[in-house]
Amino acid sequence: TERGMTKPSITLIGGGLVGALLGTLLARRGYRVDLFEKRTDPRRAGFAGGRSINLALAERGLHALRQADLADEVLEHAVMMRGRMVHPREGASGLQRYGVDDSEVIWSVARGGLNVLLLDAAEAAGVQLHFGQSLASADFDARRIRVIDDHGIHREVEAGVLIGADGAGSALRAAMDAHTPLGLRVEALGHGYKELEIPPAQGDGRARFALEPNALHIWPRGGYMCIALPNTEGSFTVTLFLPAKGAHPSFASLPDAAHAAAFFREDFPDLLPLIPNFAEDYDSHPVGTLSTLYLDRWHLDGRALLIGDAAHAIVPFHGQGMNCGFEDTVALADLLAESGRDTADAFAEFQRIRQPDADAIAQMALENYVEMRDSVADPHYLAKRELGAALAERIPSHYMARYRLVTFTHLPYAYALERGRAQDALLRRLLGESCDAKTVDLAAAEALFKSALPPLAHG
Ligand code: FAD
Repeated sequence: TERGMTKPSITLIGGGLVGALLGTLLARRGYRVDLFEKRTDPRRAGFAGGRSINLALAERGLHALRQADLADEVLEHAVMMRGRMVHPREGASGLQRYGVDDSEVIWSVARGGLNVLLLDAAEAAGVQLHFGQSLASADFDARRIRVIDDHGIHREVEAGVLIGADGAGSALRAAMDAHTPLGLRVEALGHGYKELEIPPAQGDGRARFALEPNALHIWPRGGYMCIALPNTEGSFTVTLFLPAKGAHPSFASLPDAAHAAAFFREDFPDLLPLIPNFAEDYDSHPVGTLSTLYLDRWHLDGRALLIGDAAHAIVPFHGQGMNCGFEDTVALADLLAESGRDTADAFAEFQRIRQPDADAIAQMALENYVEMRDSVADPHYLAKRELGAALAERIPSHYMARYRLVTFTHLPYAYALERGRAQDALLRRLLGESCDAKTVDLAAAEALFKSALPPLAHG
């Protein structure tokens, strides 16, 4: 067969969010795809009874879901979030809108339900799903993999082109690294997280939300914070982010619910009463760790490639890990489908295009932790935000907040990082030490932006 004429068969490792969507896109393009997933089939085992964990879906992720005709169905099970509802320690809470209006919002979706929907789509598209099959090792020269099932039974399987969507702890990555070092670097954040739950409030016999439903809630406390995202059934998933070790408060200084409840009474007095099962949640839910993962190489010629968290896990503070992974799937499926490109070439091009963007969102996600836990309550930050909002209205061709570039456009993350930096420098120059946006002459601000920066790119 001539080069480029046949489609290689694909062996996908990991049926999480990214793997299931990638499988769907590839199967729809006519690839034979076998997907090996470590867990049992969540559609049989059921997420019912488990905790609801949710995540924020934004335009990049939605755009990818539209390619698979799944966006509408996903949004039917999502709760709209217009902005950040900031709860200071003292004083009234207030909404900081993410976008200019309700066309720029993000969506809270349940991770379990989304994964089930994507696995159903993958199966319907023709992907062969193999659950309870964990990748143990890979022989890239013989093109064979070894998988272990739930009973500890090993099995050797012939593999096609291997794609690892097996997450931050990727087993395929470890196997590739053992064959040819990938230049792995893991930077621990030093902060961990724990999930708690606000159940629906009971009012006039009906379950309803205990807080404003259409917002992402933040309790910023400088060095740490709590956040809460709504679930369709009326509950909220709360996440506490704290230093892992060190002086109080840290997860080390709050080893159990008794210590943690006293800390919450001091620092989150309005939140604690909304979490009736605080003690049980705190003591039974693990502390998650957070790191950024960088690799020099994402692929082994045309034989194996990493995608999603397996290639570039990031900290969660921009709500973009899944969105970025979904954006990866479209880029990869398009490259593989281009006629005349062999797989090695498509993989190299995938890394060339996506790595600068993955690096950029990794950095912006780290910066956003400081913004969320601290800056959102800072007067100078708020003045910059207000000046930015005025400029977004006055010169939309030249100013768009970085958060909006990341969240509501398809412009490359690397562009958002660079443009955001340039815009921020100008806003600082205009404001100086002032914490009052009204002190800035908007005509002068317009002239400065138009002389210093080219018009915004489109996308
Ligand atoms: P995963 O979701 O980790 O899936 C990997 C899959 O591979 C799993 O199903 C696993 O069982 C399977 N697997 C693992 N090992 C093997 C093996 N050896 N063999 C076979 N299968 C295997 N992103 C957002 O966009 N918005 C958010 O709001 C957001 N919030 C987050 C909050 C937190 C606290 C965290 C930790 C992350 C958050 N993220 C968010 C990031 C998001 O969760 C990840 O980017 C996303 O899950 C990556 O998808 P993935 O498919 O690459 O990896």
